[in-house]
Amino acid sequence: MTDRYAVIGNPIAHSKSPQIHAEFAKQAGEDISYAAILAPLNEFEKTVREFIAGGGKGMNVTLPFKQQAYAMCNELTERAQLAGAVNTLTFSGGKILGDTTDGKGLIRDIIGNLGFDIEGKSILVIGAGGAARGTLAPLLRCNPSRLVIANRTHAKAAELARLITPQDKKQKHIEAKTFEQLASEKFDLLINATSASLTNALPEMPKNIQLNQTFTYDMMYAKLPTLFMKFAKQHGAARVSDGLGMLVEQAAESFFVWRGVRPETKSVLIKMRAAL
Ligand code: NDP
Repeated sequence: MTDRYAVIGNPIAHSKSPQIHAEFAKQAGEDISYAAILAPLNEFEKTVREFIAGGGKGMNVTLPFKQQAYAMCNELTERAQLAGAVNTLTFSGGKILGDTTDGKGLIRDIIGNLGFDIEGKSILVIGAGGAARGTLAPLLRCNPSRLVIANRTHAKAAELARLITPQDKKQKHIEAKTFEQLASEKFDLLINATSASLTNALPEMPKNIQLNQTFTYDMMYAKLPTLFMKFAKQHGAARVSDGLGMLVEQAAESFFVWRGVRPETKSVLIKMRAAL
């Protein structure tokens, strides 16, 4: 019997996850199917339960359901508890197990694929939604010199900085700052974790932010550079990347969670880039 998996979100038509998991399954010789499921905004839980009733083994969860998915879980991994959001559900023995692989995906892409060492670097994350939640603790674990979060709705950034605390003495506390407080500041790494690029908008940012030695990373990916990436280039950013590598890496981690096999990602990333 083919094991059934899916990604669930709203919208979902743009998702590349079915292609990525098809590549992983082919590579690993695993007999799985992987669909994209659109859940009505007020019927997330019902849609998940129907998938489970139909024999589904696991789901990836994307925008805007990561926190609702968290609330549905019977068990959570430590990293999911820390994040307060999940992107990977495993259905087993009548239970829903929740995990988050976004953080691992981001770190693997930035350090492994892009060769940027995070340790000792200053980082600014803009955005405080599900994606930011999943990536702050793993970023902190890389021992940056400073990890700052700023969001259009400041209270959400402040809440994340309060919730995600250092796990050992080496780690710094996350600082939540307003855009005004960060005017004219400079960071080694600037991560756009807002959904602004999804609507082809530039996110609100600190005024006059200095980007001339900054590695700028947009979690969004598209065939053409996003407005955020263009803005960074125009303002002299040292390097610019989109989030396609993160997407492939977080998918690989989910595949590992479900199937116990860690797929090779470099060739899949090249294929996905060519297919954009
Ligand atoms: P959420 O909807 O949970 O959060 C959206 C965040 O973006 C909020 O903090 C919101 O601020 C902020 N925001 C939206 N529009 C603007 C704007 N115009 N200016 C400033 N801030 C804005 O989304 P997610 O966290 O799940 O996803 C964020 C992005 O990350 C998406 O583009 C998504 O595609 C991408 N992503 C990529 C992944 C990958 O593997 N490459 C994995 C996961 C996500 P406010 O709180 O004020 O509303």
